Amino acid sequence: MRSTLLSRIMADETQEAGGIHFPFPFTPYAIQKDFMAALYQVLEAGKIGIFESPTGTGKSLSLICGALSWLRDFEQKKRQEEERLLEAGAPTSSDGLAPALGPPPSCQGSPGTPEATGEPDWITQFVQKKEERDLVDRLKEEQVRRKKREERLQQIRHNAKLRFAAKRMRQEDEETERLLRLSSEMLAAGTEPEQVASGEEELVLTEYESDEEKGVPSGVDVDEDDLDEEHVTKIYYCSRTHSQLAQFVHEVQKSPFGQDTRLVSLGSRQNLCVNGDVRKLGSVQLINDRCVEMQRSKHERKSITEEEEPTRRRRRQEPRATCPFYSHERLQLLRDEVLAGVKDVEQLVALGKEARACPYYGGRFAIPAAQLVVLPYQMLLHAPTRQAAGIRLQGQVVVIDEAHNLIDTITNIHSMEVRGSQLCQAHSQLLQYTERYGKRLKAKNLMYIKQLLYLLEKFVAVLGGNIKQNPNTQTLSQAGTELKTINDFLFQSKIDNINLFKVRRYCEKSKISRKLLGFTERYGAVLVPSMEQPKLSGFQVFLQSLQPGATVAPATPAEAEEDRSPRPASPLMHVEGFLEALTTANQDGRVILSRQGSLSQSSLKFLLLNPAVHFAQVVKECRAVIIAGGTMQPVSDFREQLLAGAGVEAERVVEFSCGHVIPPDHILPLIICSGPSNQMLDFTYQKRGLPQMMDETGRILCNLCNVVPGGVVCFFPSYEYQHQVCAHWEKSGLLARLTIRKRIFQEPKKANRVEQVLLEYSRCIKHCGQARGTETGALLLSVVGGKMSEGINFSDDLGRCVVMVGMPYPNIMSPELQEKMAYLDQMLPRAPSQARPGKALVENLCMKAVNQSIGRAIRHQKDFASIVLLDQRYASPAIQAKLPAWIRDRVEVKATFGPAFAALRKFHREKAGLS
Ligand code: SF4
Repeated sequence: MRSTLLSRIMADETQEAGGIHFPFPFTPYAIQKDFMAALYQVLEAGKIGIFESPTGTGKSLSLICGALSWLRDFEQKKRQEEERLLEAGAPTSSDGLAPALGPPPSCQGSPGTPEATGEPDWITQFVQKKEERDLVDRLKEEQVRRKKREERLQQIRHNAKLRFAAKRMRQEDEETERLLRLSSEMLAAGTEPEQVASGEEELVLTEYESDEEKGVPSGVDVDEDDLDEEHVTKIYYCSRTHSQLAQFVHEVQKSPFGQDTRLVSLGSRQNLCVNGDVRKLGSVQLINDRCVEMQRSKHERKSITEEEEPTRRRRRQEPRATCPFYSHERLQLLRDEVLAGVKDVEQLVALGKEARACPYYGGRFAIPAAQLVVLPYQMLLHAPTRQAAGIRLQGQVVVIDEAHNLIDTITNIHSMEVRGSQLCQAHSQLLQYTERYGKRLKAKNLMYIKQLLYLLEKFVAVLGGNIKQNPNTQTLSQAGTELKTINDFLFQSKIDNINLFKVRRYCEKSKISRKLLGFTERYGAVLVPSMEQPKLSGFQVFLQSLQPGATVAPATPAEAEEDRSPRPASPLMHVEGFLEALTTANQDGRVILSRQGSLSQSSLKFLLLNPAVHFAQVVKECRAVIIAGGTMQPVSDFREQLLAGAGVEAERVVEFSCGHVIPPDHILPLIICSGPSNQMLDFTYQKRGLPQMMDETGRILCNLCNVVPGGVVCFFPSYEYQHQVCAHWEKSGLLARLTIRKRIFQEPKKANRVEQVLLEYSRCIKHCGQARGTETGALLLSVVGGKMSEGINFSDDLGRCVVMVGMPYPNIMSPELQEKMAYLDQMLPRAPSQARPGKALVENLCMKAVNQSIGRAIRHQKDFASIVLLDQRYASPAIQAKLPAWIRDRVEVKATFGPAFAALRKFHREKAGLS
């Protein structure tokens, strides 16, 4: 197999950089070679790399070919070293691996060598000999296993017939098994009376013992033994959206590594489930719950012993559903097929349907042997999700792509909000559950349920509400937002006497929220004890209003379309998330009490101040971590907030930033400080609403539209300001002047309209390009951080000029931002002559947003565009330093408009011939 791979690689464009061969599908740009060489070094040395490569420079391909070349060499060295050791029959170094192959110092454990323990010589020698023998045995086993796997995958790759025959056989087996099962279940069903309704047994909590009492470690929820295979060294690649992940997988398929790489695409059950009955439940949470319940049924069924069977029959319990796609044998076959060829999520689902095996679990089974695991952010950055998916990071490589918002992403994943209506709903459901099953519950269950009820009551009370009343009609007296430290919140809520760690553990182990979900699904959560029936009519309305999906007033059709979100999951699950957040260290988070009108609309929100606590494990365990993106500037946030906070020493961090692939004269970045009538451009909050500022902005745009062909994309700092300016222009007649040259489009607020607007915008530009009339294209008025500032490609004529009106500073009055600034001022050291860390954060947030927006233009080597930053504040060297390198190096500051306009006219005249 190695020789096949080698000959294929030789047939490709093989590139050498820094003495390393990088197979590449075509001749790479110089910056791609540099990127791959730098990446290779970072992986080899076990460092943390911050990699910036502008969009359009082939970043994904550089990542793929750079990282997989390193893995290829690593595996080869490992194999050679193993062979050498096996031949010699003993290792040469005390850790059993050649120094180059052992994990880098950063992720090594620290068990003392026998010599260091001060034991007598003979013990030391004995221990050493034993270790050596064990290692040789382990290497032999690994070799056999690897050989078997390679043979199996080769067979699958080259013998499609065999594969399909196996599938047919599986289907037949499965059908027989299903019929047999149905018959035996029908026979098993007796006729004796029962205490609870049929099928209801599963809703009752089993006896709870905490882990301390049982002495078992906490672990993944299902089938851990299935995942207990050796995890080979691999690369975990994660990105933000499913379409970005799919795009990455397609790039791997097209690359020289597309044939022989063992790649698995992971996703949520919502994306991968092939059981139609489960899929139609809609929301991620409901799908997860149903699936896990079905796996549990299967396991419980397996574990029912012969002696238990008669008792079970006596209870005449209905057989609980299991998923027909979860068959161990077929999952293993699916795993092999996954590993035999690179597939994206769609192909994986198709394969799962064909093989009648679950792609979600099949993918998980494939993780240990995979070389490249492709997964969404959430799965990697949230420790419990990571564990549940069977991901082990020890000694592995992690690549986080599109990482410009990594800090925000980690913060959002771990910031939990629970609304007043959810608190009341959880309380009501829990109360009804206890009333229904109270007598069947063991004391410990009851104790914890009581604690949960108490917590819910106190959470509602601290918001100023009453748990016993309808949250929709309860008006809170003190509206506003209050921010508390965790300890103050616990104290003020009067719950500081409750051990939240234990309650959280109980929720996790007893799976109470899942039981409650099953209960509410069965009874619609309006199962009210008979003694309360007379008072019901009003109360019933209230309970119904708490139902998932209940609406207060009928929505307009457009709103209904926009808000059609999946059914929300169990409210207790939200509360559990909030409880978990409350166990964060006091200094690392805050609680925001938001009181808005009614109790329903009010909320408790946990705000994570220190995302580094959740990133620390990733950087500690991994061999190397790559944080990559098109625009990573300003990188100080990553270094200070994330990496230093996670305990990474400065020497372990490597920065790589490459230029753009375009020739220098294909871009004209300008900072313009004043307009055509010499009005100083100052878009601070106080000045931007002045009529003269809005007039001057309009005049600048009119001038630009006269000389720029095709599309002009103009970004405003907010929707509100965009509307204010447009309304002003409409009144002053400027809008009409603008429309002589460009048709005007505005960014819609509703996500479902974006595609339509973009389509019309590009059609208009195309049409104007062909018609060659007075209208030369279109002007798109967009908003920074809106729907068009990320992920949308304004290449070629779609974006010949990008204009940024003012600086999009975040709202400094927001209590959340103020708290974060204060936290950073307190926690981060302040270098002399530098801004306070809190102030730097605000500037960085602003410039990150600017960089994202202006990065929409220039998407490939032959593209060209002008970039115009309107505000004299951009002229500050400190602000310019936060621009991406490829813009920073070429940007010109124009104090007056005349020279700026002349430069723009010249640039676009010269470039007109290129398009
Ligand atoms: S096992 Fe797979 S196919 Fe079955 S319900 Fe779960 S996710 Fe869906």
